[in-house]
Amino acid sequence: MKRAGSDAAVLKPAEHKSEGFKIYDTLSREISAVSASNGEFVRIYCCGPTVYRDAHVGNLRTFLLADLVQRTLAFAGVKSQLVQNITDVGHMSEDFEEDKIIAQSKLEKKDPYSVAREYEARFHQDCRALNIRAADSYPRASECIDLMIDLITKLIADGLAYQGEDGSVYFDATRFPSYGALSGNRLDALKPGHRYEFTEGGAKRFHADWALWKAAGSRSEMIWDTPWGRGFPGWHIECSAMSLKYLAGKVDLHIGGIDLRFPHHEDERAQSNSLIPGGGEAVTLWLHGEHLLFEGRKMSKSSGNVVLLSDVIARGIDPLAIRFCFMENRYRSQMDLSWSSIQAAHLTLERWRKAYQSWFKSPANLSERVNQLIAEIASAFNNDLDTPRAMISLRGIERGDFEGGEKRALFEALNPLFGLDLLKQREAKRLTKEAEALLEKRKAARANRDFKLSDQVRDELSLLGIEVRDTSEGQEWSWKIN
Ligand code: AMP
Ligand code: ZN
Repeated sequence: MKRAGSDAAVLKPAEHKSEGFKIYDTLSREISAVSASNGEFVRIYCCGPTVYRDAHVGNLRTFLLADLVQRTLAFAGVKSQLVQNITDVGHMSEDFEEDKIIAQSKLEKKDPYSVAREYEARFHQDCRALNIRAADSYPRASECIDLMIDLITKLIADGLAYQGEDGSVYFDATRFPSYGALSGNRLDALKPGHRYEFTEGGAKRFHADWALWKAAGSRSEMIWDTPWGRGFPGWHIECSAMSLKYLAGKVDLHIGGIDLRFPHHEDERAQSNSLIPGGGEAVTLWLHGEHLLFEGRKMSKSSGNVVLLSDVIARGIDPLAIRFCFMENRYRSQMDLSWSSIQAAHLTLERWRKAYQSWFKSPANLSERVNQLIAEIASAFNNDLDTPRAMISLRGIERGDFEGGEKRALFEALNPLFGLDLLKQREAKRLTKEAEALLEKRKAARANRDFKLSDQVRDELSLLGIEVRDTSEGQEWSWKIN
C-alpha cells in the first residue's frame, strides 16, 4: 500500500492490522461494516450539488464525507469507486414553482446550461481547495435522460408507475411495501396535503406518490420528448438512474446530507429496489451527514448565514482551516462554526507546518510507538469516522513526548489520511522565478527518468536554500533549516 510522505519509497509505517471500516447505517440504524460486494472495490455514490449557485461550506461539509470515507479506505489499502452526480435539471425550488437552474438563469439572464456549467466548475474548484479527492465520475442529469426514460418505461410496464391526467408520470408509493423504512415516515402516517413534494394539480392517485417525469406544461427549456409526451425528469429518478448505471447495479455505500433522507433517498430507494433484478436492496448502507450551523443557526440561504469558501479565502484564511474544523466534529452531529474557530484552526495549521520544517532536520524515525499511534488514529477513522478522536491524537503530537524524527515520521505518514497539507512549507517566503524554474526542471527530469540531471538540479536548489524530496504524491520542497 502506498503512503505519502517524505522518502515514502523507503519509509513505510508498519502495516496496521485494520479491524475494518464501520459506519452508522441509517436504514438498519446500526453500526455496520463497509465492504466491497464485488470483492474488489467499494462502490460509493454521493449525491452531488445542484448547480444553480455556489456551494456553501455546509454543502461542502457533506461532500467532505465522501472524501473522508475514501481516505479511510485507501489508508487501509482498500480500493473504492466514487460516483457523484451533478444535478443540472429537475430540482424544483422550495416554493415548488420552478426548476432551480431555470430560475437562476432568468436572474442572470443566461442560458440555463451555461449557468449550470459555471457553478459546476466552481464546485470542483471548492472541492480542490478543501483537498476533497475527485470522484471517478461526475455524470450530469441532463446527459442521462435516456437512462431515466428507460427506467420509467420499466416501472410503468411493471405496474409501479402510472401517467396522471396532467401528463406527468408518478411512482405509486402503495406498491412499495417498505416505503418509509429509511426515514421512519410510515405511509399511513404521512398526511395528505403535507407539502413534502412538488404537487401537480391533484393528478396523483395517492398523496405520497411522486413525479418520475413531469409534463412540460408551459416550460420551454430543458425539456425532452418521451413516449408520454414532452417534459423533464423528477429529481429522485436522476439518482436512481446514475447510481445504478455508473456503479453497475449495486451501491455499497450511499452518502448525502441528512435532509436528503426524506423524501429524496426514500423515493430513490423505492425506485432502485423496484428496478434491480432479484429484489433486495440496491444500496447496502446509507450514510447521512448532519447539518452545519453557523453562529447557532442551520447554514442556508433562507437563514441568511451562508458562508462560501471564497469568503474564507478573501479573509486570508487557509481554506483547509474549514476542513480542520469539520474534522474536529463527528459527521453525525450538528456542528456550529464561527469565524473565531476558523481563525484558530488556521493558526494551528500554520504553527504545525512551521514545526514540521524544524522536525525535518532529523531523519524520520518510524519507531514502535510511532506505529502504535498511527494504528490508533487509523482505528478512530475506522470507527464510524471518529475524526474528533483522531484530531485529539494529531494535536497531541506537537507537544508530545516524541523526538523530532518521530514527529516528522508521524506527520508524513498521517498527512494522506487527514488531507490537511501538514508538510506544506510556510508561504511567507516566496520562491524566486529561478527556483521555480529549477523545480520544474527537476520534475521533468524525474518524469524522463533522468536521475543524473535531477540530482544535479537538487544540488543547485540546495545552494538556493531549498530542500527537495520525492514522495508518492510527487516532488515536495521546503526551506532548509539553518
Ligand atoms: P444541494 O446542492 O442543495 O443539492 O445540496 C448539496 C448537499 O448539501 C446535500 O447533500 C445536502 O443535504 C447538503 N446540505 C445542505 N445544507 C447543509 C448544511 N447546512 N450542512 C450540511 N450539509 C448541507
Ligand atoms: Zn441524490
